[in-house]
Amino acid sequence: MNNNYYLEDNSKIAVIGGGPSGTLFSIFASKMARMVDKKVDITIFEPKDFTQYGPNGCNKCGGVISELLVQVLAVEGINLPPNVVQRGINSYVLHTVKGDVEIVTPAMEKKIATVYRGGGPKDLKEKDLDSFDDFLLKYAVKEGAVHVPLKIEEIRQNDKMVLASHGKAVLEADLVVGAFGVNSTTHKLFENLNMCYQRPATTSAFITELELGTEMVSHYFGSSIHFFLLPVPKNIKFAALIPKGKYVTLCILGKNIDKNTVKAFLDSPVTQSVLPEQIAIDKFCKCYPKLSVSCAKKAFDNRMVIIGDAGSTRLFKDGLGASYIMGKAAAMTAIFHGVSKKDFARHYLPVYRKTNIDNLYGRYLYLITDIYKNVTLLTEGMVEVVSKEQKRSEDTRRLSSILWDTFTGNETYKNIALRAFSMPMHIELGLSFIKALGRRLT
Ligand SMILES: Cc1cc2nc3c(=O)[nH]c(=O)nc-3n(C[C@H](O)[C@H](O)[C@H](O)COP(=O)(O)OP(=O)(O)OC[C@H]3O[C@@H](n4cnc5c(N)ncnc54)[C@H](O)[C@@H]3O)c2cc1C
Repeated sequence: MNNNYYLEDNSKIAVIGGGPSGTLFSIFASKMARMVDKKVDITIFEPKDFTQYGPNGCNKCGGVISELLVQVLAVEGINLPPNVVQRGINSYVLHTVKGDVEIVTPAMEKKIATVYRGGGPKDLKEKDLDSFDDFLLKYAVKEGAVHVPLKIEEIRQNDKMVLASHGKAVLEADLVVGAFGVNSTTHKLFENLNMCYQRPATTSAFITELELGTEMVSHYFGSSIHFFLLPVPKNIKFAALIPKGKYVTLCILGKNIDKNTVKAFLDSPVTQSVLPEQIAIDKFCKCYPKLSVSCAKKAFDNRMVIIGDAGSTRLFKDGLGASYIMGKAAAMTAIFHGVSKKDFARHYLPVYRKTNIDNLYGRYLYLITDIYKNVTLLTEGMVEVVSKEQKRSEDTRRLSSILWDTFTGNETYKNIALRAFSMPMHIELGLSFIKALGRRLT
């Protein structure tokens, strides 16, 4: 029996969930184990086949990979193949009730990538794309992990952790990594253990893949993500149209998003002005996934650590980037330090906390964004300032760069919030509000 909580040769790691956090953990744990000449057995339990079309093979997300993540993955030697990247993005177009404005990438390079998390929309006929999650899962297997296509249905806590599926024990593990996201009932398995885990709070979302054809997508959407900040429907936080090959992914985030909210969004004059045709939503592949908006309580214990959405992620953006950060931090702790509660508290918790603290700045920024979204005078001023900035040199585009970093996930919320104290930007905004007010009064 290994009671001292160190992984030794032939120690077994069970990863529950083969989404990005589970696979990235496995990739780093394999690489790091080799660095210290340790042989650990990593098993990823993942029942989904990510090559399958439609919601069954998909981990349901907008599929935007931030510039930062594209870069760090490349530095780690994980280069996204062309079949995985559906489109490079070089600008965001912000749509509001007071006009539209395009914000181009500060470096004028297409570094943001859009991907599919599964085999593609359910009505896809030809197989010309590969899934991001399948790519990472295969990468993890290439690095030495074993993929077992089973759903874990039971965890028994003995000296080691025993995982079971279909009533049978399938693995006795020295470490269990919970990478099960927020879109299953697996959190209950962990909530029933002694660790007192409590899953993060979630909000609702809607995703659909609009098949418009490659030409129409290029013509109407180009290489831009179209971002909507609209005061109605009130329960929508924001929405985005993301071009991918011959499809455009529509993503809506907010509270209690349902069919009526989606219809109200599609019927709004601003949305209508962007879409090339009347959309009959019923015929397209769609889903209503949950989105994590807080962090889990008690995300680790002896021989257990929770990562990715099931633990802590970035608020409203770059969940894939957070999966990378949490997966790597958990792998470093397990391989270089140990798998006791103390080890995770010392080496994993600081990274976990940093994300949670940063999300507090994020909440503040989204509160301000909500005010700008709902008060049309402010919306008008904001659109005017960004339009002017886009004609100026890069170093004076203060508001544009704040919006760019907020949308893309390139920067920490803390750094964005600090930049928002810029006096010249507030003077320019103030003058624009006065002008907008003047226009109303005359
Ligand atoms: C509407 C929406 C849009 C989003 N858009 C973006 C975006 O554009 N960019 C971005 O960076 N992030 C985005 N995100 C966030 C992103 O999807 C998540 O942060 C990311 O998927 C988290 O990865 P994960 O591996 O932790 O969880 P998941 O991707 O949810 O993976 C969990 C895996 O665990 C498996 N699993 C669950 N239970 C078990 C079990 N008992 N046994 C075995 N396997 C199990 C599931 O099958 C699944 O494959 C979006 C999220 C939503 C909801």
